[in-house]
Amino acid sequence: KQAQFPNEKRLDLFDYRHQTTVTKRQINGLLDFSFIDERQNVIFIGPPGVGKTHLAIGIGHEAIQAGYKVLFRNALTLVEELELAEMKGELKKRLTQLSKYDLIIIDELGYLPMSRQSRYNLFQLINSLYEYRSIILTTNKDFTSWGEFFHDDNVAVPIIDRIIHHSHIFMLGGESYRLKEKVSKT
Ligand code: ADP
Ligand code: MG
Repeated sequence: KQAQFPNEKRLDLFDYRHQTTVTKRQINGLLDFSFIDERQNVIFIGPPGVGKTHLAIGIGHEAIQAGYKVLFRNALTLVEELELAEMKGELKKRLTQLSKYDLIIIDELGYLPMSRQSRYNLFQLINSLYEYRSIILTTNKDFTSWGEFFHDDNVAVPIIDRIIHHSHIFMLGGESYRLKEKVSKT
């Protein structure tokens, strides 16, 4: 089964004239996939509609073309899967399965709160991938509010630490593209 992207957004459809807080050169710079070979992460931080998921899917698609195994998961779907595995006593098995992918895209971390157990399971996943596999993470939270998101429990700091160590961080800003589309149609 392929990556299970929610849509087919491609990088060639990304308009860098609208999204000026990241350059085409920066994104194309990732496409030699040394970040995957070197087990580094990519993080897109920014408000809704600025292109985080589009870029993540676009890069993921290119990675598949280049022969890498890629999985896309919404963050909440992922923690639900982990929770289910945990309840069945199969968390370890599931983590092993997930670590077969070269790249896991975790989309929209931070939008909705997670239970304590979910945060712990997520930590287990991050831990098992650390310096072994790559993650592309999209989030609306900058790191200063991550502690709050993780309720400052003892997994917050190590999760953040492991994700941002060896990572390419892109802080995206600007106006929502969805809003632009609405406005230009009227
Ligand atoms: P985010 O994940 O940051 O909330 P998305 O990547 O889902 O935003 O973008 C919202 C919608 O706008 C998607 O349909 C996406 O393809 C489109 N979009 C966003 N930014 C751009 C852009 N710079 N060029 C072309 N389409 C864009
Ligand atoms: Mg998104």
